[in-house]
Amino acid sequence: MYRPAYYQYGHNCKLWVHSNTVQLVPQQGGESPAGAVHPNSSVSISQIYLTVLPCTGSPFIIVDVYKLIDLKRKINIRGSLREQESLKNLTSFRLGGKADLYAEPSDEEDLLHLLRALKEMEIPWFILGGGANILISDRGIRGMVISMTRLDSISKKESSLTLGAGLPVSDGAAYAADKGLKGLEFIYAMPGSVGGALWMNARCYGGEIAGILKGATIINENLEREYVPFKTNEWNYKKSPFQNRNCIILSAEFSLERAVPSDLWIEMKRIRKDREDKGHFRAPCAGSTFKNNRAFGAPSGQIIEDAGLKGYRIGGAAVSDWHGNILINEKDATAEELDKLIKFVQERVQEKTGFLLEPEVIRVGDWRSIDAESD
Ligand SMILES: Cc1cc2nc3c(=O)[nH]c(=O)nc-3n(C[C@H](O)[C@H](O)[C@H](O)COP(=O)(O)OP(=O)(O)OC[C@H]3O[C@@H](n4cnc5c(N)ncnc54)[C@H](O)[C@@H]3O)c2cc1C
Repeated sequence: MYRPAYYQYGHNCKLWVHSNTVQLVPQQGGESPAGAVHPNSSVSISQIYLTVLPCTGSPFIIVDVYKLIDLKRKINIRGSLREQESLKNLTSFRLGGKADLYAEPSDEEDLLHLLRALKEMEIPWFILGGGANILISDRGIRGMVISMTRLDSISKKESSLTLGAGLPVSDGAAYAADKGLKGLEFIYAMPGSVGGALWMNARCYGGEIAGILKGATIINENLEREYVPFKTNEWNYKKSPFQNRNCIILSAEFSLERAVPSDLWIEMKRIRKDREDKGHFRAPCAGSTFKNNRAFGAPSGQIIEDAGLKGYRIGGAAVSDWHGNILINEKDATAEELDKLIKFVQERVQEKTGFLLEPEVIRVGDWRSIDAESD
C-alpha cells in the first residue's frame, strides 16, 4: 500500500500520490502541464508513468515518485530514512526546501547498502555534510539526500589522525589539540564536516586541507572502497580531486606533528575569537559567499564594499552590514531571495569593475522553474 504524499509538479501543480493512484491538482491560478493527464484527474501509477513520461518534457518527478515510494518500501537500513524531510535546519543559511527522501546511514555498511539500491533504481543522490557551504532551493532536492553525520569516527596512530567524514571538522581539530597534535588548528571553529572540508579544500588562517592531508578513503563510482593518496597537482585554491568524481568521502587521514596541547589551544581560541569578532556567527550564512581572486587586486569583500553593496537587501536576504562577502539570511529569507542577491552583487560588481565574482557557495537542488523564469 502506498502512503498518500504530494510532490510539487512543474510550476503550478501538485502531484498527489494516493494508495495506488496519482492525481494532479493545479494550485490556485495554475495550469496543468501539457500532457495526457488533466487537472484533478486520477490515474494509476503505471498509467501515469507510461502516459505522462513522453508528453510533459519534465518526466523526472513522476519517475521519482514511483521509484522513491518503491525504494522506501524495500530498503531497510539501521540508520534513519525519512521522506519529505525539511533541510532548512541542516544548513547554515537556515533555508531551503525538503528532500524527497533523507537518510542518515549509521555506518559504512549501511551507506553501501543504500547506495547499491539507489544505483539499481537509478535514483539521484546528494551527499550532505554540515550544510555550511550550500544554498538549497526552496523546492528542495529531488531524489535522496544522504547525511554523513553518523560516520564520525576518530582514530589516532602515532602522529597521524583519521577522521570520519561526518565529524564536525572543528571537533577533529579540538581532539587533535587535546592529544598534542599540531596541524589542524587553522580549521577550528569553522562550520562543516571533515568530508565537506576535503571536498571544498577548505582554507583559512594561513592553512588549507591540502597542506596536511595524507589521503582519503572513499566509496568510488563502482561502489568500491578506494584509498586516494594526496597528490599535490590534484589540489588547488578551493579545488579538490573529489569535485571531478562522483564519489563519497568516508574518512580523511591527516599527517600532524607533535606539540604542546596548551600552545595549540591558545592559537585555536584566538582564531575562534577572531571569527566571532568578524561576525561569522552573527546571522545565518555560509561564510564567504564569493571566492577571492588575486587578479582582482583586492579581496571580494572589499570589492563588494567598494561597490556600495554592504547592507543591500532583497527580501529577507542581505549583504551583511559588517562584511561585504558575508551574505546572510537576515529575516526568513527564501533561497530564491538569496540567489537573486548573489546575482545582483555579481552584476553590480561587474558593472563597476569589470570583474565577475565567482560564488563559492554551491547551489543545490531543484532550481528548474526559477532558472526557467530568469532565462
Ligand atoms: C560562519 C562560516 C564561516 C566559514 N568560514 C570558512 C572559511 O574560513 N574557509 C572555508 O574554506 N570555508 C568556510 N566556510 C564554508 C564551509 O564551512 C566550508 O566550505 C566547509 O568545508 C563545508 O563543509 P560541509 O560539511 O558543511 O559541506 P556541505 O556544505 O554539506 O557540502 C559542500 C559540498 O561538499 C560535498 N560533500 C560534503 N561531504 C561529503 C562527503 N563525505 N563525500 C563527498 N562529498 C561531500 C557536498 O555534496 C557539497 O557538494 C564557512 C561557513 C560558515 C557558515
